[in-house]
Order: sequence, then C-alpha cells, then structure tokens
Amino acid sequence: MEEVQDNDKCTSPGCPMHGSVTSSTSGGGWVCWLHFSNPRDSANITAALRRNMWLVVYAQRVRAGISSKKDDFTKIETVMMRDGKKEFTRLNDKPLFNKQGEKIGTRQETGYEWAVRLDEALRLLSV
Ligand SMILES: [Zn+2]
Repeated sequence: MEEVQDNDKCTSPGCPMHGSVTSSTSGGGWVCWLHFSNPRDSANITAALRRNMWLVVYAQRVRAGISSKKDDFTKIETVMMRDGKKEFTRLNDKPLFNKQGEKIGTRQETGYEWAVRLDEALRLLSV
C-alpha cells in the first residue's frame, strides 16, 4: 500500500502543525506561523506544541470547520466539553453593537474569531 505523505506539514523537525508560511521564493521551506514568527526558538516551540497537542488539534478542527458546515462546530465543542476544556468552546457573550456604536446585546463568536482565539492560546503556551 502506498504511504500517504503529509506535504502540508511544517518543515521544522517534529512540529505537528501545518506549514503555512515560507520565505522562499522558489517553493519549499514551509513552516507554521509559530516557527515563522520565532525561528530562533524552534526547538522550544516544537516541544511546547507537542506538550499541548490537544490545543493544536482543537485549532486545526476549528479551522477545518470554518470552511464546512456549522454542525462541525457543535461536534468540536462536544469534544472540548468532554475533555473538560469548556473555556475553549465558542464564546456566546461577544458584544453586539448597532450602527451608532451602542451595545445592544451579545452574540456568538464567529468561527474565525474562535480560530484566532485558539491560535492566540497556542502562541501563549509556546513562548
Ligand atoms: Zn512549526
């Protein structure tokens, strides 16, 4: 059987993230945004990511869910709740403003905002 290679992986040794950024103009050398933003601390970043694989997986699932059906978000949140990580589920108390800039209520975090919040948690765990 042919082995499937993950050509999208970050090229920093041992990193579990997808490679999404490169400074190469001839292709290749793709690294994740964390390794790209701090190449001198590569080994520590990789170690921190591997210690926090649960969060890497959550962030990847949310990103994948953004381009698919909303039902996927519910599934992801079910897993988070089961794992005892309620604080990483979608926020329901984002402020909602009218055109005059007055707060008129609350709304649910968008998928994109959720992904950004999980990415920020990953960044904080790897510094
Ligand atoms: Zn990486």
